[in-house]
Amino acid sequence: MTEEFYKISENIKRINENIARAALKSGRSENDVNLVAVTKTVDVERINHALSCGVKYIGENKVQEFLKKRDSLNLNGVSAHLIGHLQTNKVSKIVGQVDMIESVDSVRLAQAISKKSLELGMKTDILLQVNIGREESKSGILPEFLFETADEISRFDGIVIRGLMAIPPAQGDNAEKCKFFSNMSKLFIDIKGKKMDNSNVNVLSMGMSGDYELAVECGATLVRVGTGIFGYRNYNI
Ligand SMILES: *Cc1c(COP(=O)(O)O)cnc(C)c1O
Repeated sequence: MTEEFYKISENIKRINENIARAALKSGRSENDVNLVAVTKTVDVERINHALSCGVKYIGENKVQEFLKKRDSLNLNGVSAHLIGHLQTNKVSKIVGQVDMIESVDSVRLAQAISKKSLELGMKTDILLQVNIGREESKSGILPEFLFETADEISRFDGIVIRGLMAIPPAQGDNAEKCKFFSNMSKLFIDIKGKKMDNSNVNVLSMGMSGDYELAVECGATLVRVGTGIFGYRNYNI
């Protein structure tokens, strides 16, 4: 095994231990929280190695990049998630190819996903992305519009609303991050309590390499970790 593969295995082991500890702190068990290995810019050999270490979820940002790698990945029993911004004109390429689209940020996008799913005779699991930090540079539904947007989206029979996703502001100390994660957790609990059609809400996706433990302590059920597993990304390959 090369040094790099060894590091990936060790990283996954350590991160899973950290997740388990944080889950206990939040009064849950390690089985209540899942690790998504974020594989953007990572080659198929390293992704397959991560999968051989027991990773059950992968997350890709770009439709094209995922489709290029997909056939070479050992995805048996693995859930593939799209986590990057999705343009409506790429919907027909990705529906049916991933198990969940985490980055749904508009009624229009949800409608397109639903339409394509119904054409394929299936339903697509989605998360609603919330712009919890109200950042202009980020996509996502503003918190005050979340419930009415979810309500509209729940009318589409080709989707299943599974929960919420957020990318809080990168800067800030733990106290600030904690505030965003806790606000997400409140929205999650509220939306779970609503009786919407086409929904089965039990996923809260938040936390990345720098803050996944904090996110789990605040109630995340999915954390998305890239750098922490694979090291720094090289966008030029
Ligand atoms: C890249 C990315 C991540 C992972 O970020 P790291 O800091 O490398 O762990 C998580 N979520 C989304 C949406 C991303 O684009």
